[in-house]
Amino acid sequence: MLRTIVCVLSCLFLVKNGFGKTPPAKLSIKHVVSNFYVYTTYHLYEKQMIPAHGMYLVTDSGVLLLDTPWDSTQFQPLLDSIQLKHGQQVKWCIATHWHSDRTDGLDYYRQQGIKTFTTVLTDDFCRKNNQKRASYLMTKDTLFQIGSISFEVYYPGGGHTEDNIVVWFGKEKILYGGCLIKGAEAKDLGYLGDANVAEYANTLRKVQKRFPRPKWILVSHHDWTNKQSLTHSIQLAKQLKKKS
Ligand SMILES: [Zn+2]
Repeated sequence: MLRTIVCVLSCLFLVKNGFGKTPPAKLSIKHVVSNFYVYTTYHLYEKQMIPAHGMYLVTDSGVLLLDTPWDSTQFQPLLDSIQLKHGQQVKWCIATHWHSDRTDGLDYYRQQGIKTFTTVLTDDFCRKNNQKRASYLMTKDTLFQIGSISFEVYYPGGGHTEDNIVVWFGKEKILYGGCLIKGAEAKDLGYLGDANVAEYANTLRKVQKRFPRPKWILVSHHDWTNKQSLTHSIQLAKQLKKKS
């Protein structure tokens, strides 16, 4: 009897310690406000699973996706989850710079009949760097209107990359900063291999000036609920410029 109990206890111990730590779901969706949602997928980068957030907006005429999942196994599950949750199809997708954490799903989504967008500048970088490309190109800052929702695509200059854009939903005061803005807890500005170090701080200040008092600032790889992200990123960019 005692042996059985010992075995049961040690087995429980093994179960708890061997499998107790559940890995994050491959795809998660969180509500932001009204019809805005953040979706998250993960990608193995330098031996770490890095989260990548994108956003989507549900309207009566369909769903707008900002950026694509980084994990290619989640391109279709994201579409399925949105369909299941909201009974709506994704109709449009805008990628906010040329790196694969933003653009990887562009081909796949085009094949599903989704209208995919980047700027001409992003498309140039995608072509040169063998990344997936969009089928519709924006030549300048663009205002979009989907039903009652309007938003602005704005290119503030080089920062994280030379082509990074941000998206502003004026009525809701939501600033979608993508990889240009790092989280309030970020220790540095992340990967700078394609960055414009000299202009980074100026570019962020332009965003801050143009879109004052946002209610939400969505960032790609950190906690998107802390609005200190933009001012913190400006500080990091200033320090970086001093060092360079
Ligand atoms: Zn990124």
